[in-house]
Amino acid sequence: MARVAVDAPIWGELDYASESTLAPGSVVRVPLGRHVVCGVVLAAEPPAHDARELRPVAQVCDALPPLGPDWLDLLRFAAGYYQRPLGELMAAALPGWLREHDADAVRRRWLAAAERRAGLRWELTERGRQELPLRLGRRSAALWRLASALGLAAPDAEPVPGNTPAPTSLDESGARRLHPRGAAVLREWLEQGWLRAAPPPCAPLPAALPALHEEQHQAVQALEGQRGFGVQVLFGVTGSGKTEVYLRAAQQVLERDEHAQVLVLTPEINLTPQLLRRFSERFPGQALAVLHSGLAEAERFDHWAAAHAGDARIVLGTRLAVLASLPHLALLIVDEEHDASYKQQEGARYSARDLAVWRARQRDVPVLLGSATPSLETWHAVRSGRYGLLTMARRASGALPQVRLLPSGHDPLLRAGGPIGQALFDAITQRLQQREQCLLFLNRRGYAPVLSCPDCGWMSECPHCDAHLVYHRTDGSLRCHHCGHRQAVPRACPDCGGLDLQPVGRGTQRVQEALAALFPQARIARIDADTASRKGQAEAGFAQVHAGEVDILVGTQMITKGHDFQRVSLVAALNPDAGLFSHDPRAPERLFAQLVQAAGRAGRADASTLGAEMLVQTAYPEHPLYQALQRGDYAGFAERELAERKRAGMPPFSFQALLRAEHAKEPRLLEFVEQAGELAAQLADGEPRAYPPVPSSLARVAGVHRQQILVESSRRGALHAFLARWRAALQELRGGVRWAIDVDPTEF
Ligand code: ADP
Ligand code: ZN
Ligand code: ZN
Repeated sequence: MARVAVDAPIWGELDYASESTLAPGSVVRVPLGRHVVCGVVLAAEPPAHDARELRPVAQVCDALPPLGPDWLDLLRFAAGYYQRPLGELMAAALPGWLREHDADAVRRRWLAAAERRAGLRWELTERGRQELPLRLGRRSAALWRLASALGLAAPDAEPVPGNTPAPTSLDESGARRLHPRGAAVLREWLEQGWLRAAPPPCAPLPAALPALHEEQHQAVQALEGQRGFGVQVLFGVTGSGKTEVYLRAAQQVLERDEHAQVLVLTPEINLTPQLLRRFSERFPGQALAVLHSGLAEAERFDHWAAAHAGDARIVLGTRLAVLASLPHLALLIVDEEHDASYKQQEGARYSARDLAVWRARQRDVPVLLGSATPSLETWHAVRSGRYGLLTMARRASGALPQVRLLPSGHDPLLRAGGPIGQALFDAITQRLQQREQCLLFLNRRGYAPVLSCPDCGWMSECPHCDAHLVYHRTDGSLRCHHCGHRQAVPRACPDCGGLDLQPVGRGTQRVQEALAALFPQARIARIDADTASRKGQAEAGFAQVHAGEVDILVGTQMITKGHDFQRVSLVAALNPDAGLFSHDPRAPERLFAQLVQAAGRAGRADASTLGAEMLVQTAYPEHPLYQALQRGDYAGFAERELAERKRAGMPPFSFQALLRAEHAKEPRLLEFVEQAGELAAQLADGEPRAYPPVPSSLARVAGVHRQQILVESSRRGALHAFLARWRAALQELRGGVRWAIDVDPTEF
């Protein structure tokens, strides 16, 4: 019998009958209802009840080595911590291709992928070392020639004391020379699980590594001394050369242990090609795997397989890569650890950064968290001595831009309705004269956030959401950025028939248009979710900027992250003030990080004659957040925010979870959250504290109403004990309301 976690959003594990004993971690296919689904064996338990009642395991994907106990523990932990079914975590962790194909197809693809990686070279697995001599016995000298070429000592060979045979690898043509059916025999042994792809020979590192600057040197040395678990925070300003530290840290680990695997997490798919290039240039020949949601399913399987087989020495990916199977994981690196995209915002709402730290502790290996603006949780852990701190305060080349705050109060150009004030206009004019690039960002795509009728006050609103329809001028549409609803711009006001509908507010399209009028000679490009909707288009846009074919780049926060622009010397934020006064307590932290990131795109090559600048057009130039930004004072900003959080009893000084519930019928939803609130009050026993249900910040999306209940405790243990009870009780409630618990929520 086997206990199996199945690929279905159901709670609890299922038992199946099995003729042979299946190792925990085996990937199987099992019947569920009228379907056959993928599953992972959790335990081979003695039959607790009559095994004849059980349905049998349909197939075993025995070409795959079983998933390791550490991987199973990771999934169990994440499922428990985030209050989600194990099967759902499994579905997030395993490539879709694996989940959807039968054992034969998996075997073929697994072997084909291994062959490609190995360049057809094979070596013995541990199992092969043990089982192959038994199988061969004293028969068949020809087969023994193959086995000895793979490093097994023939039974009648004189044992040399203290001399275990060196592991050796063999390719197909080598095998054919030793045995007429050599290639076929290798294939058979491979299918038995006795062989695996031999790692490609270690290519030499490029002879001349760039000389480290003093701060990098100190960081690298500190990491060199790190053995076993420890969290190091690499707090380095933008352009300080954090990537070089990652590369050296990886190199140390890879050189120390020939099997070691390094996991590198990066927040954005857009940034993976850049990071990938730096790693593959530095480590040519070291198998690199990439894991992110932009890969085709079959391709993702191949990369996942390389990691699972232990062949991929470096695995680079976005948040889902933290769930990869990495049997020889020896170092984890989380780049831009503060980035909000590490938190999954649907299904299993895990934090990849937090799971990376958990995995490091589990494997007793170091983890490196890099950022110019660490999250307040991380900073708090540094301040309280739990995490180590490695600081890099200067740029590797070039200087950090000067920050200038431009008051938008009495500016004539802004009053006349333009997107930029006089000071910004002058600054851009100067840069254009010097042939330097400018980057302008604002957090709204589209043309105008709303279309309005000045006669009656009508505003374009989504029929399905509590949100405005955004006016997109390029195709004359009104679009909802929440549910995707799209309609043509009405010819006249639907309420009063007025013909003078006006765009209100500004999005990236409108800013681009206004800039084109202000700077007719300039080449202006725009990158946002609209222009980047087709594959490769954002990359093409960035390539144009790198090639110097663009003078002014307008975009959303997409353009502020990670890129190593060489010719940008001016970055401007257009009215980012909304982040100062949001209902979301994390908004200031996000705003600060975003502005620092944006500033980080300027002056990276020191080529500017005017000096690099970051300009913030704001109505609140005196605000402490902007003042700290101007001083380049992340630590000061963080202290102030942490003091504020402490006063308010907010994370990291407390622990939170959010019950999110939704239903198309509002009364039914309200009834559910009321019951959920009552249950919380009964079960909480004072700790944690449950707040009354409130509508979510977007109370209706795509016709579905949304409510939430916040629970908060000063003790993590108390919160989690409560959540388990609460979840069980909520599962008993009827009414068809969709709900989920979001642990450590980052969006409200
Ligand atoms: P960060 O990730 O900290 O923002 P990067 O790693 O992108 O910074 O490095 C910024 C730039 O500095 C890159 O162009 C990189 O090649 C360069 N750089 C890094 N380290 C050094 C060094 N020791 N000497 C010279 N240039 C360096
Ligand atoms: Zn009207
Ligand atoms: Zn909508």
